[in-house]
Amino acid sequence: MMRPTRHQMFADFARTAALRSICGRLIQVGCIITNMSGTNIKSIGYNGPARGKSHSCGGSPDSTIKCSCIHAEANALVKAPYGPRLRLYTTLSPCPSCADLILNSTVSEVVFLEEYRNPEGIRTLLQGGISVFGLGDDGELYEVDRDFFLQSGGSNG
Ligand SMILES: [Zn+2]
Ligand SMILES: [Zn+2]
Repeated sequence: MMRPTRHQMFADFARTAALRSICGRLIQVGCIITNMSGTNIKSIGYNGPARGKSHSCGGSPDSTIKCSCIHAEANALVKAPYGPRLRLYTTLSPCPSCADLILNSTVSEVVFLEEYRNPEGIRTLLQGGISVFGLGDDGELYEVDRDFFLQSGGSNG
């Protein structure tokens, strides 16, 4: 059996965290925030309603109405320490709102496993000086094509 890299290990943790989501839209997203050396997990998040609220987020699989779920990255960020540089792993690339939250945190690297249909979040991160990576089959990180994201639809950039 192949020994997973630290990145693969955290990616698997993020996928497992995603499975805890009860989002009615059936979009399950998981997020893990670690220190930069990958020796400590600082926070865990998945999308879901705020604590104490109804377990129904109002979303359904066939609807495009926004549900009331707090996104995985936001849930992880509210519990993450502010100060040391951090790396954030998410199963789906951040939406524009979560990208803004990341810019105001001390996360300096973002790793996503799947690309969200709206690339605006990735663009926001890159414009804000965050390094954005995908996870290669070899278990190592590869930086996304900055030029592609910064140029595509960048008329409002
Ligand atoms: Zn939901
Ligand atoms: Zn989001």
